[in-house]
Amino acid sequence: MTADVDVLIVGAGLSGVGAARHLQDSLPDASFAILEAREAIGGTWDLFRYPGVRSDSDMQTLGYRFRPWTDEKSIADGHKILEYVRDTAAETGIDRHIRFGHRVVRAEWSSAESRWTVTAEHGTQSVTLTSRFLYTCTGYYRYDEGYTPDFAGTERFRGQIVHPQHWPADLDYSGKKVVVIGSGATAVTLVPSMADDAAHVTMLQRSPTYIASLPAKDPIANTLRRALGNRIAYPISRWKNIAVSVGVYQASQRLPRLVKAILRRSQQRRLPTGYDIDTHLTPRYNPWDQRLCLVPNGDLFRAIRHGKASIATDRIATFTEAGLALESGAELEADIVVTATGLNLLVCGGIELSVDGAPVSFPNTLAYKGMMLSDVPNFVFTIGYTNASWTLKADLVAEYFCRLYARMAERGQSVFVAVNDDPALETRPLLDFEAGYVQRGVAQFPRAGSRAPWQLGMSYFHDLVSLRHGRLDDAAMRFSA
Ligand SMILES: Cc1cc2nc3c(=O)[nH]c(=O)nc-3n(C[C@H](O)[C@H](O)[C@H](O)COP(=O)(O)OP(=O)(O)OC[C@H]3O[C@@H](n4cnc5c(N)ncnc54)[C@H](O)[C@@H]3O)c2cc1C
Repeated sequence: MTADVDVLIVGAGLSGVGAARHLQDSLPDASFAILEAREAIGGTWDLFRYPGVRSDSDMQTLGYRFRPWTDEKSIADGHKILEYVRDTAAETGIDRHIRFGHRVVRAEWSSAESRWTVTAEHGTQSVTLTSRFLYTCTGYYRYDEGYTPDFAGTERFRGQIVHPQHWPADLDYSGKKVVVIGSGATAVTLVPSMADDAAHVTMLQRSPTYIASLPAKDPIANTLRRALGNRIAYPISRWKNIAVSVGVYQASQRLPRLVKAILRRSQQRRLPTGYDIDTHLTPRYNPWDQRLCLVPNGDLFRAIRHGKASIATDRIATFTEAGLALESGAELEADIVVTATGLNLLVCGGIELSVDGAPVSFPNTLAYKGMMLSDVPNFVFTIGYTNASWTLKADLVAEYFCRLYARMAERGQSVFVAVNDDPALETRPLLDFEAGYVQRGVAQFPRAGSRAPWQLGMSYFHDLVSLRHGRLDDAAMRFSA
């Protein structure tokens, strides 16, 4: 089977569905198709099925700019987010453009034809499509395998070891002793969610994370929605939350001691008197040097207060028959151990790119405005923020691409490519973030430059100016007919 479209989107998660909707709205004459490796819409929000799976940022900013989030809960349950993405796809018939079960493995650009030839595996078949533009919305991690460090003694352990990315639908943990290894967003979600039914849940962490409590329901957003209706209230609440998240991030960078003190006071109010906050909840780094974890309505702290959950800050020496032996000499008994130890990063969904027969090595490319690759024509990728909701950036990338497409059509141009002419440009990792999973995998990603337009901004306001309103034809961007 072959087909030719103007824009080929890869991935039908939050970003791919959003990109398609922007195309439909801004470029109704552009033809597009979406290739999706899995059999379902939703990406992350369909894949992760562990108890309590939820957003760890507010849905006014994780939701699309063009489609109000109408649920009462702003820190939302995973299935509600999945429903939102699915509904968005169904509403305007985007779902009819998706070819499920198509894993893109190769994309070859031909300058002679000004086209991408994209090869996807579909069962045992190989399917080829061609397109003028290739727009990847493949997320940032491997779907087939979560990250698990090599722990000693796992073969001795008589209980069950589970990774949150591969949650067994029939796992019964009621009345069981559970240890959750990890201290990131997944661990802090799992611990209170399992605590009600389990005998006890211990969160075992090597080092602590900053954890802030936030109301699951945003009273201002809900009041505005009831008073003004979705259409008017949503952009106001969205801007409020953008301002709050940017404010918290900036305050963390500039006044880390103040932010630390506020977090600590809020934790003290929710935890038992005398709780060892220094050991279990005070990282060595400053707030937002790594992602700050949110817990809705302080649920994790409540579980600790009620004795249903606890935090152990220690290192694993080895698994034993009955649980875990720790380096301090302590032992943790467990029937179930959950390895909330993270993701394996994957650049561009594992697609091999080539330009006129020459393979593209991602680490040798530079990211232009955090959304295109140097010397790779008519190619766009989507990577969201690490310090704010992903969709804020994904929406801007889509808007920028639509503006670029329309302008090129107006001027009879068919090819764009970003080129760096400055051999002295300093480069740095694309994701400048200390989190373990980023450090493990960032070397396979494109590089960022030390100045615009090669810098990857983590500032929404900067990107808003640059991507929504900024020039499309700076010195680095070349167009041809
Ligand atoms: C558990 C969890 C919770 C999160 N919570 C938040 C949060 O609260 N706020 C936030 O901002 N971010 C959060 N994130 C980050 C999150 O991944 C993004 O917010 C968002 O869901 C990314 O959407 P996406 O469509 O870009 O990528 P994904 O959701 O990863 O979807 C990518 C899609 O592309 C498909 N695909 C990949 N490679 C190929 C290929 N080669 N061929 C065909 N199809 C392919 C995949 O099958 C998938 O459907 C969370 C991540 C995880 C893992």
